[in-house]
Amino acid sequence: MSAAPRRAGVAGWPVAHSLSPALHGAWIEAAGLDAIYDAVSVAPEAAARELRGLGARGYAGVNVTAPHKATALAVADDVRPAARAIGAANLLLFEDAGIVADNTDAIGFLTGLEAARGTAAAEDLVLILGAGGAARAAAFALTQAGGRRVVIANRTQTAAEQLAKAFGAAAVAWDRRTEVAADAALIVNATSLGMSGQPPLPLDLSQARDTAIVYDLVYAPLETPLLAAARRRGLRAVDGLDMLIGQARPSFEAFFGRPPPPDVDARGVLLAAMEARA
Ligand code: NAP
Repeated sequence: MSAAPRRAGVAGWPVAHSLSPALHGAWIEAAGLDAIYDAVSVAPEAAARELRGLGARGYAGVNVTAPHKATALAVADDVRPAARAIGAANLLLFEDAGIVADNTDAIGFLTGLEAARGTAAAEDLVLILGAGGAARAAAFALTQAGGRRVVIANRTQTAAEQLAKAFGAAAVAWDRRTEVAADAALIVNATSLGMSGQPPLPLDLSQARDTAIVYDLVYAPLETPLLAAARRRGLRAVDGLDMLIGQARPSFEAFFGRPPPPDVDARGVLLAAMEARA
């Protein structure tokens, strides 16, 4: 009798919209693995119990998406440093010794940024808009290397202050975002504004530096009103898709013990999956 395929997935609520199964599925197929990566619907009422039980259901590990990233951290026996610093886990591994929680969103964030930055020097002043999970991953990634001034603006000021304190950054009032954006070398939208069904992020880029990079972590839609405005202004615009790919790569390696095959056009796979759903 042959062994069961190695199983991994993405756990969230709702989760049917997740693009991760399409990407991991393409990697599994190209690598010729006997493996499955599927979407696991985990209702909020019983999230801790259900996440803990996934190992017994045969999962080697799962990515964790909204709204369970904090719960994922709480159910782990072993929390890796990135997940601890960010205060959330997007990756759970069900090992013999217990449940391991990690966070690959910061790696993903840097993947997207590096693709855009090219040979330009590291940004000196960075404005992060938002103070939720994505903003925490961005702040962690940007402050790790040092040498940057990171400023956080969030609608709820106390959340911006808490995040700034955790990562040695500064917090400014939400109403001052356009003023700070004028001096920033990198402007990051880590709010949910600009997502399908949400209003656009109100930010005036007319005074932004000509060399500024505008990085929107939103990937549905790919071209947010903010990125469209950045392009009109002649600025470098980065969408959230490379972050999604960048967080998925180390997850795949953790689940299946090998990096994803490099010859797969991950961006093309995701664009096709988005197109199929439109
Ligand atoms: P989250 O933890 O729920 O945080 C949402 C953030 O958006 C908070 O800072 C919130 O401010 C702000 N916000 C929501 N509605 C707002 C409004 N009407 N006006 C001003 N601010 C508002 O969500 P998250 O997990 O950080 O995700 C944020 C975005 O990043 C989402 O679009 C998500 O898809 C994207 N993301 C992308 C990737 C990727 O791989 N590309 C990974 C993770 C997340 P308050 O604190 O005031 O509520």
